[in-house]
Amino acid sequence: MARDYPLEKVRNFGIVAHVDAGKTTTSERILYYTGESHKIGEVHEGNTVTDWMEQERERGITITAAAITCFWNPSYMGTDLSQKVRFNIIDTPGHIDFTSEVKRSMRVLDGAVVVFDGVAGVEPQSETNWRYAEEAEVPRICYVNKLDRTGASFEKSYASILDRLSTKAVRLQIPIGLEDKFEGIIDLLHMKAYTFEGEMGKNVVAGEIPAHMKADAEKYHAELVERIVENDDAVMAEFLDGKEISLEVLRKTLRKGVIANKIFPVLTGSSLKNKGVQLVLDAVVDYLPSPLDVPPAKGLNTDTGAEETRPASDEAPFSALIFKLQDDPFVGALSFFRVYSGHMETGSTILNSKTGKKERIGRIVRLQADKREDLKEVFAGEIAAVLGMKEVKIGHTLCDPAHPIALESIVFPEPVVSMRIEPNTKADQEKMGIALSRLSDEDPTFRIKSDPETMETIISGMGELHLEIIVDRMKREFGVEASTGKPQVAYREAIQGSADVEYKHIKQTGGRGQYGHVKIRIKPLEPIEEGKKVKNNVEREDHFEFINSIRGGVIPQEYIQPVKKGLKEAMERGIQAGFPVVDISVDLYDGSYHDVDSSEIAFKLAAINAMQDAMQKAKPVILEPIMKLEVVVPEKFMGDVTGMINAKRGTIEAMGERGQARVITAKVPLSEMFGFTTQLRSATEGRGVPNLEFSHYAVVPRNVQDDIIASRK
Ligand code: GDP
Repeated sequence: MARDYPLEKVRNFGIVAHVDAGKTTTSERILYYTGESHKIGEVHEGNTVTDWMEQERERGITITAAAITCFWNPSYMGTDLSQKVRFNIIDTPGHIDFTSEVKRSMRVLDGAVVVFDGVAGVEPQSETNWRYAEEAEVPRICYVNKLDRTGASFEKSYASILDRLSTKAVRLQIPIGLEDKFEGIIDLLHMKAYTFEGEMGKNVVAGEIPAHMKADAEKYHAELVERIVENDDAVMAEFLDGKEISLEVLRKTLRKGVIANKIFPVLTGSSLKNKGVQLVLDAVVDYLPSPLDVPPAKGLNTDTGAEETRPASDEAPFSALIFKLQDDPFVGALSFFRVYSGHMETGSTILNSKTGKKERIGRIVRLQADKREDLKEVFAGEIAAVLGMKEVKIGHTLCDPAHPIALESIVFPEPVVSMRIEPNTKADQEKMGIALSRLSDEDPTFRIKSDPETMETIISGMGELHLEIIVDRMKREFGVEASTGKPQVAYREAIQGSADVEYKHIKQTGGRGQYGHVKIRIKPLEPIEEGKKVKNNVEREDHFEFINSIRGGVIPQEYIQPVKKGLKEAMERGIQAGFPVVDISVDLYDGSYHDVDSSEIAFKLAAINAMQDAMQKAKPVILEPIMKLEVVVPEKFMGDVTGMINAKRGTIEAMGERGQARVITAKVPLSEMFGFTTQLRSATEGRGVPNLEFSHYAVVPRNVQDDIIASRK
């Protein structure tokens, strides 16, 4: 079977926005105009399409990153369908606590529409999202929304984009009127004025630029053309020769610049008032890349370890990346994937290169606004979901078994806040376990573990709100009622030195005895040097390395894994304050056994004890999460706020200006940040705006360490 759509007519993109900038409303309009959604739903009525989780509707936060497929024929093409494209819209969440979702989705997007609130302009979260897009080199178009609102200003918002995000931004449109007089949009490339007529403004009407705006439009048009021609030497040369550059060439050259991340066109409109969304879609077609325009995917051949690439071609070996797991209430467990190369059909057998397991593909579906379309086959560059896959996790690669590859995966931040959680009734205990493990499958930044001493369940995630939402989802989707403890900082323990210890576990109490004997050396784990191959007696895991240096069977093979298990178990509870221990390399280099008395359990116990002893001797420390804090405050509060940050063990890294306001960037320990928002508000007459994001783990100072240990006793 062949593909139904040429690859150059596919756009995989996301709508990236600060919470409340209007992503949901814009997505709604997109689904309406693309004809997939016939009834328009307002956010407050709670029947929007992308926000299909009940809870999202209530909170107005888009948590999930589902992909929705729809079709668009550029509005300037009229009835000529030759340019019709398929959109796969990947939903990215806007809230700071879900940055991992944003990062993850960036990985599979080819382009993004970044939405701004036309009153607020660039907000702290916009900057975070912009940075992720920057890191992933995702081409972007900007959309300044809500121009109908009182206080909206396209020019101010545009200036804030230039000032805070990128000087590579350029006006592609300007509004006609503002606030309640916002009437239409001038496209500065086509030099036309557009209004939106009929039901939901669905008829895009092109007209002449109003006389009073001609001068501005000419000026910005000239500026835009200059910025466009810079992207192509030949076009630039013609331009400098004073030749007229055709609209077609300008459009192509602008596309080239956007795809190369050299230019970010800025568009505008009001999604709520049905003005401008169709032009955004035209711009997605015209300027954002198709899968053919982005570099081939990279990965490692899991047989040879060699780096390989996979071009976006149906003929190449099949490879796809899983980017989202989601339970669909009607069809069951969906694993969303993006195909990077080749094709896959139902009934075929693919390899999950992470688990090493082969699996037969049952049903493949593509989600549209109002239906699930069953697919026989999916091709390079497409996004779809497979039903009922086993043992699959986000970041896994599915591939052709004959051409095994692990595509560059998605790196997630570590959870930094944890809390105890307890079901309200005994009957809920088991249900809670199932619910939590489901939720953690979906979300790699959400973890569960049980405290071996108190038998309590502890959940951890990226922030208080993140965990709150999980508890809420558990109640709604799984019917489990639970109560939680206070949020706690997810401390860790580590070592700063090395140690060499020996432990013999011997018991002789009549009958069969116990005998296990190990000698280990431990030291802090170092990152793998690039290009260096890991030796085959070394097993690397997250935060742990096990080196098996046993020679001549002094410890028989069957006891090696029990030893490793024991070492890891000892690391679950640090010897200082019981926090999980990270980043240790353990070398098992000697030991002995007994023909009759040795057993797996004896070796495991020997390993646990040896490890505890070794950690004690290897300069143990406690680590705490350090956050990157940014506060925007009016000038007059600068002194108070910097004082506040210093009192919280913070280090101020930079102080800058942002329009009238001042911006302070600092690094502050998370443990000092609970309640900070409230405190900041009261210190700044409600005008200070904080933005907090995980930065790294660092050793806690001695005095703080003593307090932490004392509080755990
Ligand atoms: P999201 O949080 O980014 O998904 O934003 P929503 O689409 O939920 O919008 C947040 C609020 O802004 C809602 O009350 C919308 O009705 C409102 N809104 C969205 N777009 C516009 C717009 O163009 N103009 C005005 N005035 N309000 C808008």
